[in-house]
Amino acid sequence: MSAATPQSANSLPRDRRGRPLRDLRVSVTDRCNFRCNYCMPRDAFGRGHRFLPKRELLRFEEIETLARAFTGLGVHKIRLTGGEPLLRNDLEDLVARLAQLDELDDLALTTNASLLTRARADSLRRAGIRRVNISLDALDERVYRQINQIDSPLGDVLSGIEHALGAGFDAVKINMVVQKGVNDGEILPMARRFRGSGAILRFIEFMDVGNHNRWSLGRVCTAREILETIAAAHPLEALEANHRGEVAKRWRYADGGGEIGVIASVSEPFCGGCARARLSAIGELYTCLFAVSGFDLRKWLRAGLGAEELRARIGALWRGRRDQYSVERLSQPRTAHSGADAAQNSQKVEMSYIGG
Ligand code: SAM
Ligand code: SF4
Ligand code: SF4
Repeated sequence: MSAATPQSANSLPRDRRGRPLRDLRVSVTDRCNFRCNYCMPRDAFGRGHRFLPKRELLRFEEIETLARAFTGLGVHKIRLTGGEPLLRNDLEDLVARLAQLDELDDLALTTNASLLTRARADSLRRAGIRRVNISLDALDERVYRQINQIDSPLGDVLSGIEHALGAGFDAVKINMVVQKGVNDGEILPMARRFRGSGAILRFIEFMDVGNHNRWSLGRVCTAREILETIAAAHPLEALEANHRGEVAKRWRYADGGGEIGVIASVSEPFCGGCARARLSAIGELYTCLFAVSGFDLRKWLRAGLGAEELRARIGALWRGRRDQYSVERLSQPRTAHSGADAAQNSQKVEMSYIGG
């Protein structure tokens, strides 16, 4: 395969709002062993649900070719996600391929950790994963199972977190999606559990992704509410962002107990700095988490386009991007995006399809 020549910084594409392309999420499967109520609720993703046929998925060498094109356009960071990426037994092969890309300075994974054995954590680390995000929404067994909807025991993910911490990744973060009336009572227990643990806990506002999670503004526990809950027990101090475009706002415990992050995608959208593209498991490019459709890159790959041509076409797609869904959501009347508003929401891509 001929490698694309990286472009000089000032010829890298910027979208119509002046945003560069820096970050790529790659969904390696649309399947998941969980049915989290905010992502793949059982009633919409039940036995009859048709997942992508395996033959449709991009082969690892195809993902590598696309990743090379993306790094030539400014991407420095790739995150592997899904669905549940650890359902791909040979994921380490893909990791090893991507880890060789020169322009990449971060290769990360998001997982529910239910399958993250010690051996798997070690092999992923050895293959080149630098950072791991683990989803955990509650420490109360009943609440945890109520959310994952498959009765997956809490012990499995807690072991997965221990394995990740033991494997020597550069960072391990815990992602908690907070749903009012479901797991907001878990904010303080989670904060206490992960203070000083070596893992950074990040609270994520519940988003109206996809079409089935019965989202409404009333079910969003805002960043402000989350921070007030924690600060009442453990005073917090704001921290500077690690880098421009960082989505999580960082805080630290005033008593030295470490840091937390809050991702306020609903109450304080960050579209203005959004430099993120998403690649579905069958090779469609999505330029926004809330997009209605993607661009089929697989057909170009399979038509045999070379690296330079792929890069030129993907760059042109990025230059045409205007997305800022979350900013627009904020300017709508408060009821405009309720889960009941089927006409408006019925076409959005599912998060498990393009990766969170
Ligand atoms: N299965 C893996 C996992 O759960 O970590 C990776 C894929 S999952 C779609 C990626 C992330 O998206 C998870 O951290 C999950 O909590 C988050 N997510 C899914 N649906 C969400 C929603 N409605 N609002 C906010 N975050 C959501
Ligand atoms: Fe699966 Fe992750 Fe979605 Fe939960 S959040 S259903 S673990 S893809
Ligand atoms: Fe980026 Fe779309 Fe999310 Fe805005 S709504 S931050 S453009 S993914």
